[in-house]
Amino acid sequence: MFRIGMGYDVHRLVEDRELWLGGVKIEHTLGLLGHSDADVAIHALCDALLGAANMRDIGYHFPDTDPRYKGIDSRKLLREVTRLLAEQGYVLGNCDLTICAERPKINPHIPAMQEQLAQCMNCDISQVSIKATTTERLGFTGREEGISAYAVALIYCEPR
Ligand code: MG
Repeated sequence: MFRIGMGYDVHRLVEDRELWLGGVKIEHTLGLLGHSDADVAIHALCDALLGAANMRDIGYHFPDTDPRYKGIDSRKLLREVTRLLAEQGYVLGNCDLTICAERPKINPHIPAMQEQLAQCMNCDISQVSIKATTTERLGFTGREEGISAYAVALIYCEPR
């Protein structure tokens, strides 16, 4: 059986924070604010995977009130989500992400992100598509107040 899920996330851009996107640290004057490392791309992907499996959302599994997740590397969350799905017999078909950011340029970092995400999900990089867009200076991403990310994921149950 095939199942599909979607995810969306936003984090605020602030000074004095590292910028982590798709499991990659990017040099920039601003970073994303959050309880975890605020990797907005991984969070959207986790929600797409959980949604595909009808297993609630990232905040349900990893509440931002829990000190265990303070400053956590979001790759750990993605690995845990992958484990939760595997427990239910689900395997990733493919996923597709869109990161919306005015700055910095995301495109040069995409191959490294694909590699990181594929590693966390124990899949091939050919199953992980990542795209980037600006929002033409419009809205909160255009004003560089934050970065948003969308993700869809297709999963299936492996015949046993
Ligand atoms: Mg988030």
